[in-house]
Amino acid sequence: MTQPSAGQGASQADKHCTHWIGGKPWTGTASQHGEIYNPATGKVSGTVDFATAAEVDLAVQTAAAAWPAWRDTSLVRRAAVMFAFRDLVRKHTDELAALITSEHGKVASDAAGEVARGLEVVEFACGIPHLLKGSFSENVSTSVDAYSIRQPLGVVAGITPFNFPAMVPMWMFPIALAAGNAFVLKPSEKDPSTALRLAELLSEAGLPDGVFNVVNGGKEAVDSLLNHPEVKAVSFVGSTPIARYVAQTAMTAGKRVQALGGAKNHMVVLPDADLDQAADAAVSAGFGSAGERCMAISVVVAVDPVGDELIAKIKERVAKLTVGPGDLPESEMGPLVTQVHRDKVASYLDSGVADGAVLAIDGRGHPITGGSKDGFWLGPSLLDHVKPGMSCYTDEIFGPVLSVVRAASYAEAVEVINANPYGNGTAIFTNDGGAARRFVKDIEVGMVGVNVPIPVPMAFYSFGGWKASLFGDTHVHGTEGVHFYTRGKAVTARWLDPSHGGVNLGFPTNN
Ligand code: NAD
Repeated sequence: MTQPSAGQGASQADKHCTHWIGGKPWTGTASQHGEIYNPATGKVSGTVDFATAAEVDLAVQTAAAAWPAWRDTSLVRRAAVMFAFRDLVRKHTDELAALITSEHGKVASDAAGEVARGLEVVEFACGIPHLLKGSFSENVSTSVDAYSIRQPLGVVAGITPFNFPAMVPMWMFPIALAAGNAFVLKPSEKDPSTALRLAELLSEAGLPDGVFNVVNGGKEAVDSLLNHPEVKAVSFVGSTPIARYVAQTAMTAGKRVQALGGAKNHMVVLPDADLDQAADAAVSAGFGSAGERCMAISVVVAVDPVGDELIAKIKERVAKLTVGPGDLPESEMGPLVTQVHRDKVASYLDSGVADGAVLAIDGRGHPITGGSKDGFWLGPSLLDHVKPGMSCYTDEIFGPVLSVVRAASYAEAVEVINANPYGNGTAIFTNDGGAARRFVKDIEVGMVGVNVPIPVPMAFYSFGGWKASLFGDTHVHGTEGVHFYTRGKAVTARWLDPSHGGVNLGFPTNN
């Protein structure tokens, strides 16, 4: 690093995260702060400044001032910055992963995995010269040519959740920047260091000062972005109530918005499925990252008669899972992000039982290997005989609690999923190609896996759910991401030749 870091103090204990504005850490004194925790120890590891409206305005005005020169930078030069950024992120993957683990809690391999998935979007953005190619039609009328171009919007903002502090920001800013916009990111206040380190790497990659800025904070920072007249578009990822609020507020303020919300992802297991494969998938997708993934499987829909055998296989696998600090190589699952969240997730085990579900695996008794007693631990749990209507089914738990709903038939399984208000991801496990094909058609969910439990699309496809999992109609990254961060212009041009035709008050038609 060539300049003082915005994200790391002299030691973990006195870490101080501030904003990144104009290519450097903000030097002002914040009036409000939050605390950052290490979830594996339960200890405060530092503080994060919370931006007021004035600080957000400074970041947005800085971005607005930097934008025209960046917009006018050639496509190839903008792509070159992305190529350099890609190399830097790759080189610093382990360091970024360690930062994520220290604030989020997820295990190091999983943290490196999210950096890798974010990198795929950076690589996609490296192709921006191709992605922004327009179309051209010669002689649409006599001596008249028509063509289309896509232009950047100006200053755009991203507001991101705690659970993917590297990947979700990287769903947004690589494409936005490569397309010629300036960006203001408001990462989660729970794990802000990764975004600040990415800002440093963007500077090192040659991005001009002010084109990418980070403001930290909570509601005041978000509201200031949503209402700032210079912000032209807002990408949001987080819980459904906040996504709905962000979409409504930004649209009312006249902005383009894509707001991705929460999820309740079902995995259907048909009687002909390979139950070992299905059990592996349910455990991996249910408990990976302690269930704190928007594409985590939270409900297994076991179609009769597979339920008992499948649960027995899940139990065998869960018993062998190593839960412990994310920085220990043997850990497969880390702690939850905060004590409050841990307690809320655990409360669904009691409420589920009170509502009539059967607690088949109680994660509160799972051994914690090598962890401090003060960490935010909850082992993998399973509630069986869950029914729609129970709060453990209707609420997004967002933790290591897998529910099993028993269904009498394929049709009943589809009915349950389509009646659910969320529509982020789903999967079917079967060896019947016809059933899988029918499921893909029938199911009202944005991302579907066939024998793939977490069907997160590659960067060149677009990511997004249906129903209460997404507000606005553009998904993130892929071609929809390019469209979101640009607007189309259609040009009709006549270069005078002797046949220009003189005055004509009629409506333009082609002839
Ligand atoms: P969250 O909604 O609490 O926070 C998301 C962002 O909104 C944060 O930056 C936060 O500071 C801000 N925020 C929080 N409360 C706000 C308020 N009242 N007004 C304005 N801004 C506010 O979400 P989280 O707990 O950080 O993340 C977990 C949630 O994100 C889960 O619901 C998960 O499903 C969802 N998620 C969805 C996707 C997806 O692609 N659909 C991806 C990742 C996470």
